Amino acid sequence: MPTLETPILIVGGGPVGLALACDLGFRGASCLLIEQGEGLPDHPRATALNSRSMEFMRRWGIADRVHAAGTPDGFPHTVLYCTSFAGYEIARIERPSHGGRAPIKQSPERPQRCNQLFLDPLLTELAKSFDHVELRYRCSLESVSESADRVIATVHDRANDRRFQIAANYVVDCSGGRSVIRPALGIEMGGSPYAGYFLSIFVRAPELWNHHAMGKAALVTFVDAKGLWRNLISLDGRELYRLGLTGRRYYDAPDQVNAEEFFREAVGKDVSHDILSVRRWMARNVVADRYRQGRIFLAGDAAHLNHPAAGLGLNTGLGDAVDLGWKMSATLAGWGGVRLLDSYELERRPVGIRNIGHADASHSNEFQQPTHAEIAMDTAAGAEARRKMGEELVRIQTRRVITDGLALGYQYTSSPIVCSESTGPPLSSTVEYRPTTFPGSRAPHAWLGDGRSTLDLFGNGFTLLRFGSGARQPTMMERSFAARGVPLSSVSIADPAVAALYERSLVLVRPDGHVAWRGDEDPVDSLAVVDHVRGAD
Ligand SMILES: Cc1cc2nc3c(=O)[nH]c(=O)nc-3n(C[C@H](O)[C@H](O)[C@H](O)COP(=O)(O)OP(=O)(O)OC[C@H]3O[C@@H](n4cnc5c(N)ncnc54)[C@H](O)[C@@H]3O)c2cc1C
Repeated sequence: MPTLETPILIVGGGPVGLALACDLGFRGASCLLIEQGEGLPDHPRATALNSRSMEFMRRWGIADRVHAAGTPDGFPHTVLYCTSFAGYEIARIERPSHGGRAPIKQSPERPQRCNQLFLDPLLTELAKSFDHVELRYRCSLESVSESADRVIATVHDRANDRRFQIAANYVVDCSGGRSVIRPALGIEMGGSPYAGYFLSIFVRAPELWNHHAMGKAALVTFVDAKGLWRNLISLDGRELYRLGLTGRRYYDAPDQVNAEEFFREAVGKDVSHDILSVRRWMARNVVADRYRQGRIFLAGDAAHLNHPAAGLGLNTGLGDAVDLGWKMSATLAGWGGVRLLDSYELERRPVGIRNIGHADASHSNEFQQPTHAEIAMDTAAGAEARRKMGEELVRIQTRRVITDGLALGYQYTSSPIVCSESTGPPLSSTVEYRPTTFPGSRAPHAWLGDGRSTLDLFGNGFTLLRFGSGARQPTMMERSFAARGVPLSSVSIADPAVAALYERSLVLVRPDGHVAWRGDEDPVDSLAVVDHVRGAD
């Protein structure tokens, strides 16, 4: 059987596999991505990119393209609850810091809506722009076997019905919820017993907003006496939507669902539209017991699955890709220590458990939401039911739909490659992010005098930020990085407001933008710090 060689084989060309290929490409590492399909998403899935994911797009230089391809700047990220567009409004949750371009305090990037229909092609284009990144379509991985120094993958090339092998130093399984690799490795998924069954109806309705007076909204949930079982998600802020139905009977017999009728009922009248496609899908809230076996790593939906209520699936997967990207590049470049790749699971699995736990709790809230037989009626009891339910929805659902604290406030505080401190870090809530340079945290954003964000300083190697009137000549820390061949750039920042935000005179930031170490003077043993943060001690 013919054999190809690659340092890194990525299995799956969904958004997480593509993001990993982009991050590796950005860092100069070679990789090969195989995808069983044609690489063109034909049915909408994830739409909501949080600020952290947009910061990754910014690092890769495609944030403007994602903004342009996604929902227009002025489109409100409103979450609306109503009986139907022709019926009664029950509640609304505004998200003024989401969408558009106006500055926000915590990030240079606002959350942006850009469905995978538009995002995946942008990631594909970026990945293909790197000479050392190769993408092969219609290639389905069938099996993997590992030896001491490499992994051999057997692949079916569906275009010509031939099999070939790929020998790789590392394999990253980004093949989603139906991974063949994870079960073959004996890795189980654990978590909530919840299983949800859904039908997703992809609709084009260019005139929809003109047909009702409730205003534009990103996410509309229709409420009736049975509860919250239908929602309509705006995919492009213009004409494309996904109507979601919850229920086993729709999942089991999608052919018997009259999509036209469901759309008409939700809208409340006849509005010109085309049903583009109908797909069923199942949601679980589970996390893999392990994210790694030997030279094989799991990322994205292959590692964790969750109900998309809180928009955390894709965003969590992009975080996995970015954590793995610099560690694999560093390992291949030779400056990553032997324990660097071990830190992937120790950093990312707790984030997976927390995010999937949040999705699970949010989802059960949705089902516990009491409704009322008269909710849609034009009676005093109906009005009272809507008032009460509206209050409850705002109280409960705000935590579900505003997750800025989860997006930016995740911390790798128990990581073996950050220099942790004895006191506990300040914690962000689900809704609200609290900036901190506590080791393991995402280094905070502040605008610099030249119009850049502090985050624009990070990405290539480590960055040592010096605040105040620190010495300019190479310090022991810089000499130690040079001695170990680890790329480092030093940046002095005089602005006292940024210095206060960063809490220490010296802050060492990793290539992924997380704080590795901080102090008010050079460490006593700077070589030991360098070895610790590169996973070599
Ligand atoms: C209806 C819906 C709405 C969602 N909304 C959101 C949201 O708003 N925000 C959010 O963050 N998340 C959301 N999600 C979740 C999000 O879509 C997923 O988390 C995300 O797509 C995971 O990306 P992935 O690349 O890990 O996996 P996938 O997108 O599943 O991609 C895996 C790829 O691997 C390929 N593949 C599989 N097996 C093989 C093989 N053996 N060989 C080669 N290739 C293979 C597949 O063809 C596929 O292209 C939503 C999900 C659904 C279903």
